[in-house]
Amino acid sequence: MQRVCLLGATGSIGRSTLDVLARHPDRFALHAVSAYRNVERMAELCLSHRPQIAVMVDADAAEELRRRLDGQGVEVRSGEQALIDIAADERVDTVMAAIVGAVGLMPTLSAVRAGKRVLLANKEALVMAGQLFMNAVREQGAELLPIDSEHNAIFQCLPAGELRRLGDKGVTRIWLTGSGGPFRERPLDAFDVITPEEAIAHPNWSMGPKISVDSATMMNKGLELIEACWLFDLPQSEIEILLHPQSIIHSMVAYSDGSVLAQMGNPDMRTPIAHALAWPDRIDSGVEPLDLVKVSQLNFEAADEKRFPCLRLARAAITEGGTRPAILNAANEIAVEAFLAGRIAFTRIPQLIEDCMHQTEAHAAESLERILADDAAARDCVRRAIDGGRV
Ligand code: NAD
Ligand code: MG
Repeated sequence: MQRVCLLGATGSIGRSTLDVLARHPDRFALHAVSAYRNVERMAELCLSHRPQIAVMVDADAAEELRRRLDGQGVEVRSGEQALIDIAADERVDTVMAAIVGAVGLMPTLSAVRAGKRVLLANKEALVMAGQLFMNAVREQGAELLPIDSEHNAIFQCLPAGELRRLGDKGVTRIWLTGSGGPFRERPLDAFDVITPEEAIAHPNWSMGPKISVDSATMMNKGLELIEACWLFDLPQSEIEILLHPQSIIHSMVAYSDGSVLAQMGNPDMRTPIAHALAWPDRIDSGVEPLDLVKVSQLNFEAADEKRFPCLRLARAAITEGGTRPAILNAANEIAVEAFLAGRIAFTRIPQLIEDCMHQTEAHAAESLERILADDAAARDCVRRAIDGGRV
């Protein structure tokens, strides 16, 4: 029996995870769940999935949840420290890290430091603190399994075992595939009037608002490029981004003998979630079988950095290294938040990030304090640019 802690239980990945867990009560027990402040959904999922502990980061929301779950046998906790505690709880074997954004870093690291099996959806944590994060994985003997569909696909296409020195195992190249989002074909002169509703309407995937906007700007693919560099110990130059509008191939690995292995499936996050939960076994995920006759075509095109400047910014950030990716990520989080709030135009997102990258000094990423300080400086820089009316 694997005892699971689910961070970000009310989100898109959280709900897909609960769906897979509920199919296998013989294998998995839900020990703890967390959310920020969505009491309604949290109360509902606590009653249907019966965790031992529920954390609401927001104190008022925790109070309200306590009232609602009175007498139900669920212990309600609140605050950020509670996230760190449940991720390291000795009664937990597996932690699903599905909080969105930089706030997920500390709880995810807590799980790594406690040597858990860590299922990583929260890519921002790895983008911010890649070196420290991977060092902690190795030092603590944590088991890191990627949930991001691309990285999970690559993991499945790699030889089993050690994920380092892939060149020695004949790997020559990795192709990260991406659909290109809702604006792959939109005329460039119509980018200025893109609304939040249009940006979060992804053609193939149903996801939370932040990653949906990231998919529309393709910063998501940029963050994934950085994520792949850390997970698979590869330089960015060996990772290529390829547009594949159908989202059936989830990524590919090329080998020195000319073989290219791809992982395919319907675009449904329950596949990578079930894969990582059960690894090295395979379990039912509830995903519809792939019907290739219905799909009929798989298309590919080069990714256009003019249309999607975030790709260029992400490559520049990981090439420079140090705290530059943390700065890129923080700037992106503030810009996306402002776009979703209707405060800035879609095209301002990459501009604000690029300006911030020029204006914020990066350092060696030698400590968490350093990374968090540069993250905070980048957030301030973008907030000032937005509030200063230079939007
Ligand atoms: P979401 O917005 O649907 O859910 C986010 C979760 O994080 C919620 O449970 C929310 O309560 C919690 N949260 C938000 N702010 C918080 C805070 N300040 N403190 C504590 N918890 C907080 O997001 P999502 O789409 O499920 O994405 C989650 C993560 O998974 C992201 O890092 C995303 O990039 C990654 N991911 C998502 C998908 C997908 O299909 N949704 C695919 C690949 C990777
Ligand atoms: Mg992805």
